[in-house]
Amino acid sequence: MTSTIHINLGERSYNVHVGAGLLAQAGEFIAPFAPSKRVFVVTDKTVAKHHAPALEAGIAAGGLELVKLIKLKPGEESKSYDGLQEVLSKLLTAGINRRDLVIAFGGGVIGDLAGFAAGVVKRGVDFVQIPTTLLSQVDSSVGGKTAIDTPEGKNLVGLIHQPRLVLADADVLKTLSKRERRAGYAEIVKIGLINDAPFFTWCEKNAAALLNADPAAVQHAVTSAITFKARVVEQDEREEKDIRALLNLGHTFAHALEAHAGYNGDLLHGEAVAAGMAIAFQLSASLGMCAEADARRVRAHLDACGFVTDLRKLPGAPYNVDKLMALMAADKKAEAGKITFILARAPGRAFVERDAPIDVVREMLQQETA
Ligand code: NAD
Ligand code: MG
Repeated sequence: MTSTIHINLGERSYNVHVGAGLLAQAGEFIAPFAPSKRVFVVTDKTVAKHHAPALEAGIAAGGLELVKLIKLKPGEESKSYDGLQEVLSKLLTAGINRRDLVIAFGGGVIGDLAGFAAGVVKRGVDFVQIPTTLLSQVDSSVGGKTAIDTPEGKNLVGLIHQPRLVLADADVLKTLSKRERRAGYAEIVKIGLINDAPFFTWCEKNAAALLNADPAAVQHAVTSAITFKARVVEQDEREEKDIRALLNLGHTFAHALEAHAGYNGDLLHGEAVAAGMAIAFQLSASLGMCAEADARRVRAHLDACGFVTDLRKLPGAPYNVDKLMALMAADKKAEAGKITFILARAPGRAFVERDAPIDVVREMLQQETA
């Protein structure tokens, strides 16, 4: 049961394979993209502990040489200048050259960092993504955005460097904590809320199975989410049009909530996105663009999954409305002081709004936090 999604980007096109047991076949899949037959794996210590032996066996079975396994400290701190230097220095010391291949084996932190390192080492080496969190399988491994965080903010230094291949193995998700799986699920249900009402209904019925890593549910959800992201990335590789902006449903609020909470691990990105989507639907209802019943339905589903959509109870509370408004205005996606919101007319009918009346936003947030 493997499905393949093709990302059509001309000479930068690639396939995303979704299925169980892909680590064992990794070498076979990867070999066509490794002309020197030499690969360098970048991972974190947690992923390595659970899954490095399976990947190493898969690499060897495909006739590839694993030159170096680089294991970083798990967590967002590794996506930094220091983490980048560590990866680059280890790649160079181990003698990487242009015909070698980098494998990013981990969650979004490793994907973003290793993709960036591959993009700049020796002026650019090809890389493959083997995402190991639900979030990275459905979101960060596809689309080519790579970056590190700097003292000025998250993801501000990086480049677009498309992978040559993505292998999303459902089996590796079994060792992921339920909390991390749920955080990834936020980006899945988001796709239904953006443009696929039947998929949202499927999510309402199957979220519980998915959160328990049920293989059939994971396969359907991951394939659906990647297929949508693929179509968006194909139309808007460099995020210059409104279509890729739709993927930011819930994110204007989420980024402000995360910054307010202080990125200390209390509030995961997906948890902030879930709360942000509930608020985006509430704002749509407050503006008369969507039925109150739809906003309630979205929130009820997210609450049923175990997300906290009540800002008064969300980790990081109490949230200050002035501070949230200031953080949203300072977001890198805000243009000339105008905050862009992704709003919706109903589940599955999201749109980009650049002119939302700020007083309504503020009042809605007052109610949500009071
Ligand atoms: P992560 O990479 O930090 O992984 C979360 C935790 O899960 C880590 O502790 C990791 O060690 C552990 N882990 C990973 N795989 C595991 C497994 N199979 N079993 C057990 N534990 C496992 O976090 P993430 O949520 O995957 O990614 C977040 C990052 O992704 C952020 O830095 C974010 O900016 C980035 N991101 C990038 C894009 C993009 O388009 N490039 C999109 C979304 C998010
Ligand atoms: Mg996101």
